Amino acid sequence: MPVKRRKNEDWHDFHDRCMRSKHWQEIRAEVLRLFDYKCGLNNNLKPSTCLGVLDVHHRTYDRLGDEDIFDLIPLCRHHHEAFHAELNEEKSKPKKRKVKRAKKAGVFGWF
Ligand SMILES: [Zn+2]
Ligand SMILES: [Zn+2]
Repeated sequence: MPVKRRKNEDWHDFHDRCMRSKHWQEIRAEVLRLFDYKCGLNNNLKPSTCLGVLDVHHRTYDRLGDEDIFDLIPLCRHHHEAFHAELNEEKSKPKKRKVKRAKKAGVFGWF
């Protein structure tokens, strides 16, 4: 069952509630299965640079609480952290480049 944001609910409280919901457990498991329990940035052609547990990253929070499977991507902890660090670093730079690089990585959000 989708999680709906309550009136005047703090975004972080809502996010917390979503992360504890049955919907999240289910869609998270489905995303991991779809990607064969591999990091979305895993490159089969090169020795893997993936490290750590798999997180499920939101490409967009547009449907938080009622995510579509394509809103999410599994990322290993290493790539997840590297990805967020890069986005933070690029926040002050021109938008065009950020979007281009994010597109290249196949990941669009920063959460
Ligand atoms: Zn990885
Ligand atoms: Zn993330």
